[in-house]
Amino acid sequence: MPKEFEILLYYLYVDIQDPESFASGQRRLCEENEIKGRIIISHEGINGTVSGRKEATAEYKKQTLEDLGTDRMQFKVDLSDGHAFKKLSVKVRPEIVSLHLDSQSVINPNNQTGERLAPEEFLSEMENGDVIVFDGRNKYESDLGKFKGAVCPPVNNFREFPEWIRENFSHAKGKRVLTYCTGGIRCEKLSGFLLDEGFKSVAQLDGGIINYSKNSNTKGKNFDGECYVFDQRVGVEVNSNNPKVISKCIHCDQPSQRYRNCAWKPCNDQIFICDSCEEEFGKFCGEECRASCTKLSP
Ligand SMILES: [Zn+2]
Ligand SMILES: [Zn+2]
Repeated sequence: MPKEFEILLYYLYVDIQDPESFASGQRRLCEENEIKGRIIISHEGINGTVSGRKEATAEYKKQTLEDLGTDRMQFKVDLSDGHAFKKLSVKVRPEIVSLHLDSQSVINPNNQTGERLAPEEFLSEMENGDVIVFDGRNKYESDLGKFKGAVCPPVNNFREFPEWIRENFSHAKGKRVLTYCTGGIRCEKLSGFLLDEGFKSVAQLDGGIINYSKNSNTKGKNFDGECYVFDQRVGVEVNSNNPKVISKCIHCDQPSQRYRNCAWKPCNDQIFICDSCEEEFGKFCGEECRASCTKLSP
């Protein structure tokens, strides 16, 4: 069966005069075309990931670029057997991604951002340069997959980066720092923030891990594990060059990329658990959660 759906990932930092009315337009466009997913609109731009039938996503791409009045926005496209989202959410926010800086310090990537590196350039510097590779995502994302040797801050939210960097990473101000994230949107601000903080040489992976994985020269080289994505797939393959699984089943310690949430709802921690251990022990992060759950529903 040919795959008849597309999953789109896209963003653009661009002036949107009236975010509320732009959001209504997006909502209408998605509903008319049975598009599902998450879209954030702000004065500073648009950030979205959606799924739909190919004819529908074609219409969505065309109309959205028309409404934005630009063709600068790139859509990263994956094929799929069906929707990757259960519903549609279109929200207006103060920023499309936020480091929660005070209003004077908010980074505008159109004014300040790190040098953009194509996948080949990123790989070449990673392999040959005196660089620090820096993961701009959350810990639960880098736990599933990351570039070899990357610094992966133990943060649970993007807004925790400024404090973590000030406390733990200031020693690297004189080094060349290469940042990466899923699709590139977070790095636009993160690299701008690093420059603001006095880091001398900052570059970012243009288009993020997703673009890097699709590049025919890099083929995802040196990315270990899978890339965490915010849809029903949870993880996507990146590396067809020198792949390696880095996560292990929480019970049996065997390599596993099966990423699930602990079935004890108040916990809901993300855990790696293999098929057979889930069958045997249930989908719990540990004894305590299993006990709590069985107590409630004997
Ligand atoms: Zn197991
Ligand atoms: Zn748990």
